[in-house]
Amino acid sequence: MSTLNFTRLVLVCDGCQKRHGEPHGHNSAQEARIAAYVDGWRFPSTVRADGTPGSAASDVCPGCVPGWEPQSYQKRPGRSTRLPVDEAPRPEESS
Ligand SMILES: [Zn+2]
Repeated sequence: MSTLNFTRLVLVCDGCQKRHGEPHGHNSAQEARIAAYVDGWRFPSTVRADGTPGSAASDVCPGCVPGWEPQSYQKRPGRSTRLPVDEAPRPEESS
């Protein structure tokens, strides 16, 4: 059997795990962040141990933007998670 895999991206808030982009997801991280930015998401830099801005960014939903504390790189949640089919977003769960 030959199969084709494709990947869709759904942003997950680093603060509350809220998702953006369901049910269909986005083609790329850039596309996901542009769409989320329009909806009020922000992507503040992480901080290094010495307090200077790091090269990575957190994904923060509008509810978590006020009072957001920059995260250290080590404390960030895992960046990419592969969901089993039964945990994947479904259209009827979107609101
Ligand atoms: Zn959030």
